[in-house]
Amino acid sequence: MNVTELARTLRTNAKELLEILPQYGFDVGLKAVKIDDKVAQKITRQWKYIKKNLDDRRRQEAELKKQKEKELRRQMGQKITLPNLITVRDFAEKMNLPLVQVIMELMKNGILANQNQSLDFETASIIANELGFTAEREAVSKEDVKKEQKREQALEVAFSDKEHKHPRSPVIVVMGHVDHGKTKLLDTIRETNVIDTESGGITQHIGAYQTIWKDPKNGSTRALTFIDTPGHEAFSVMRSRGAKVADIAIMLVAADDGVKPQTEEVISIIKAAKLPFVVAINKIDKEGADVARVKSDLSARGIICEEWGGDVPMVEVSAKQKLNIDKLLDVILLVADMNADKIMADPEAPAVGTIIESHVDKGMGPVATVLVQSGTLRRGEPLVVNGEIYGKVRVMKDYRGRTIESAPPSTPAQIVGFKVAPEVGDILDVGRAATSEDINIKEKKLKQTGAERHTIITTTKENEDEEDKKTINLLIKADVLGSLEAIVGSLEKIKHDEVGVRIIGKGLGNITEDDVKKAEAGHGIVIGFHVNATPVAEQFLRERGVEFRKYDIIYDLLNWVKADLEKMLESEKIVTELGRLKVMGIFRTEKGSMTVGGRVEAGKLKRDAFVRIMHDGVNIGVGKVVSCQSGKQDVKEIPEGSEGGLRVETKVKIMMDDVLEIYTEESKARKIVFL
Ligand code: GDP
Repeated sequence: MNVTELARTLRTNAKELLEILPQYGFDVGLKAVKIDDKVAQKITRQWKYIKKNLDDRRRQEAELKKQKEKELRRQMGQKITLPNLITVRDFAEKMNLPLVQVIMELMKNGILANQNQSLDFETASIIANELGFTAEREAVSKEDVKKEQKREQALEVAFSDKEHKHPRSPVIVVMGHVDHGKTKLLDTIRETNVIDTESGGITQHIGAYQTIWKDPKNGSTRALTFIDTPGHEAFSVMRSRGAKVADIAIMLVAADDGVKPQTEEVISIIKAAKLPFVVAINKIDKEGADVARVKSDLSARGIICEEWGGDVPMVEVSAKQKLNIDKLLDVILLVADMNADKIMADPEAPAVGTIIESHVDKGMGPVATVLVQSGTLRRGEPLVVNGEIYGKVRVMKDYRGRTIESAPPSTPAQIVGFKVAPEVGDILDVGRAATSEDINIKEKKLKQTGAERHTIITTTKENEDEEDKKTINLLIKADVLGSLEAIVGSLEKIKHDEVGVRIIGKGLGNITEDDVKKAEAGHGIVIGFHVNATPVAEQFLRERGVEFRKYDIIYDLLNWVKADLEKMLESEKIVTELGRLKVMGIFRTEKGSMTVGGRVEAGKLKRDAFVRIMHDGVNIGVGKVVSCQSGKQDVKEIPEGSEGGLRVETKVKIMMDDVLEIYTEESKARKIVFL
């Protein structure tokens, strides 16, 4: 068997294979071209173990290298200066270390953070120290402090100016464990509208919507704004960036499933944000629904319902059968009234709000939804985001897709007119009058802002060239949001012209049959991080031949992706031209080889080199020099100007006066680099 063929079946390359084999007792030699079939079979059988051992060794070597680098930095007393707050991405850049390594180090210290999350100085300096650096606090210029204070004050004023404040509609977020019915509940509430929605056009998913509800106290109609990104994913991203969007949370718990890991995450988010909340116990229509168990699970975590002497309103609902949805909305209005002093804004002021959705549309460019929290946003106004001008409101639409001229407080508005895509969680603050100083900052920063990067990432994803790329398609499920974000964030950073990773699905919880179907349709592999496949999904995986990989360590997952991408890259061929020989005699013709004689007209002839057979200036085939002779002697080389004989392995017939162009070919495996 040819070594190259064996290498191909083992999904590696010949050079690497020949280097590896001796280490595992297969003494085939570094230059071997063919391998005995029996030996090849043995290698194939053992390959799985060899590969695993090799991967382990490489991992250990990489780890050792990192340790050595760390030690070196420590000995050299390498210093970095850090600001009070730094994103993980900027932190990695500052230390000149791969993002993945920094995320891993954070995880080792129990911090699950994605690249956009910010670390305070204390945390960052501990991690920097672990990585061999000595961290110092960056001296903040007085000017920066002043600027920051001004901005904070502006926001503070926008939210707390009592004199001009009017009540606004409450903003509600729905959070809960996967599959407990968040999407269903949001859909049901969307339809539960006392005002005829038919006249208003088709509901658009822009990140939030409003529902009009009758106030049980006096029968007047009131609007409720719902953030409709299911799950707390978007909410946590916003919160991690310090944004405060929601006034009230609905914590959803399925009556047939009880309190689950993400319910716990929600509890801590709500507690940290000091957010008023209502518990909706969903799926009460289901067999196996156990409301009392949910209540007792919650009370064990300090969340006690009113009838048990606590102060948390709980409503038993069925999102599917639309049971008690009216009760839930009534309770939300009550909670809103109890917090009425906080749910206020000045509609006359310049708009302040938070970006709750952002994407790049192929035709329209960046499109984002802002939830106006104070003031009113009007068409034509500048889009001042994080103190920088990102564009101007060209077109504004509401959640029903209708064009609107202005968006008062608590209105979600989809905006076209951004030149740079903002990020979810960014603050829009129109009133922060853009001075020439700001514009300078903007220009200076344009290359480095997260928003700019965001645009690039999103557009390349939609780029048609991407279609031609060979990709590994992944459907990723993880147990908690932090890990999922860290994984997706790291994978998105892999950039290569020829190969890439496409994430065809992501989510939390065990792998379901739906996931398998999605992966099958997208020719993808299912990845489980700390999660398993349900028994039905397992059967689906087997039946449909969909690959499933389970990981407990992000590093292992990323390494596997990297290795697989490298295998997909055809190795680079390095061709070196050696010389030219003119055929002056044909001595012997056998099956698959010929012995010919000739004169080296230029360069040299070498054993083991390849030849291009040129007949009348046309390349009619290729071959390999297996031996050469000068006089009667076997030699390694024949120099320029000399004559000699050579045996060539080839499928084509060499004729008198043909020219053999001699060259060597080396293949070099190419590497994928994580940014
Ligand atoms: P999410 O992951 O929390 O957004 O959950 P979904 O809204 O996607 O709901 C998960 C599954 O539960 C879907 O199949 C829903 O149809 C179902 N579901 C949601 N609410 C109810 C309910 O009140 N009763 C029943 N029987 N099923 C429900």
